[in-house]
Amino acid sequence: MNETTDQKAVKCSFCGREANEVNSMVAGPDVYICDICIKTSVDILKNNLAAYNTKSNQQTTLTPDMIKKSLDEYVIGQDRAKKVLSVAVYNHYKRINSNTSFFELDDVEIEKSNILMIGSTGVGKTLIAQTLAKILDVPFAIADATTLTEAGYVGDDVETILVRLLQSADYNLEKAQKGIIYIDELDKVARKSESVSITRDVSGEGVQQALLKILEGTVAGVPPKGGRKHPEQSLININTKNILFICGGAFDGIDPIIASRINTNTMGFDTEVDKKIIEKDDLVQLVQPEDLISYGLIPELVGRLPVAAPLHSLNEEALKNILTKPKNAILKQYKKLFMMEGIDLEFEEGALDIIVKTAIERKTGARALRSIVENTLLDIMYEIPNLEDIDKCLITKDTIEKGEPPVYIEADRKSA
Ligand code: ADP
Repeated sequence: MNETTDQKAVKCSFCGREANEVNSMVAGPDVYICDICIKTSVDILKNNLAAYNTKSNQQTTLTPDMIKKSLDEYVIGQDRAKKVLSVAVYNHYKRINSNTSFFELDDVEIEKSNILMIGSTGVGKTLIAQTLAKILDVPFAIADATTLTEAGYVGDDVETILVRLLQSADYNLEKAQKGIIYIDELDKVARKSESVSITRDVSGEGVQQALLKILEGTVAGVPPKGGRKHPEQSLININTKNILFICGGAFDGIDPIIASRINTNTMGFDTEVDKKIIEKDDLVQLVQPEDLISYGLIPELVGRLPVAAPLHSLNEEALKNILTKPKNAILKQYKKLFMMEGIDLEFEEGALDIIVKTAIERKTGARALRSIVENTLLDIMYEIPNLEDIDKCLITKDTIEKGEPPVYIEADRKSA
């Protein structure tokens, strides 16, 4: 390829311009291209590249199915909730990552769908919210609704939650504004309905009003390092429009509310099915916004939590799986700790059964598992650094049940 300058007869093979009409002409074997056509070609290539990048970015966006599969690695059971959350989170990020002008064109504005998880303590609500943030690689903050107060009262202002999110985003405002906030114990700020108590819980309602503001999207000025606001301080303005709020609560006592609604609706159908006693878990699957309002959430807040994800209680099989299956399962963690001492930690099947049985008696879901295992292993962990030539430590049923020592297998005995 060479550049020609003074050949009169030379024409660009693409646009037909002659050499004297353009600044330069590049020649190949029997073909020529002028600088104007080169520039046009470069522009076309650039556009194609941009289109390709956009497409490949879209391809790397996690689909609901991919989100659910990643959740499965950490969270046992709760299939329905995981599915509901995967779709909600997918839609949320699709909405905020999409080209807004497109939505202006058709006048349809997709509203934010915050999520409410309903399930007893220790069934994985916090774990799901936390894992979602990890999978999506977005900042995450947890708040407990019971520690929140209306602005001006003693306790955490609702804005404190936003400070925590900002901290979790390493003070990157843009990242924080696309983060996830988990608000636990939302049921505890429900106002007491007149039928339950004659004293109306005004402060609970105040907290709900304050939460409502940040859930629906507001610009809140927060002190950069947390703490209370004071007049001379410069504030950081956080827009909560694109922050996804996931709320959670046990909502103890919501089952009779749901049951009575269903009974009213099915009045006159006096069949065996109607009479069947539906367990709380099953009833919670049928929760409707009006049940949450009857429970004591203000209608505006319920309206801002359009996606309800009911969780179920964990049975023996689920608890056993929680001990062993998740990526960072409790037993895997202890096994790793023991492995650092060169000891292979094993649990007899019967030992696992007892751990699970004890956990069920404590009625705190999977929360009890760690403390039972920790208690059992405390003495052993105290002891093993002093033991020599131990290759394996076998936890038996009696180790858990009666506190008997585990079976230690010595290195030479095993090889013998
Ligand atoms: P909740 O928020 O529902 O009260 P958490 O998510 O805090 O409960 O769960 C408490 C602990 O129990 C977690 O640290 C987690 O290890 C374990 N856990 C609870 N539910 C599950 C589950 N479904 N799968 C795996 N681990 C779970």
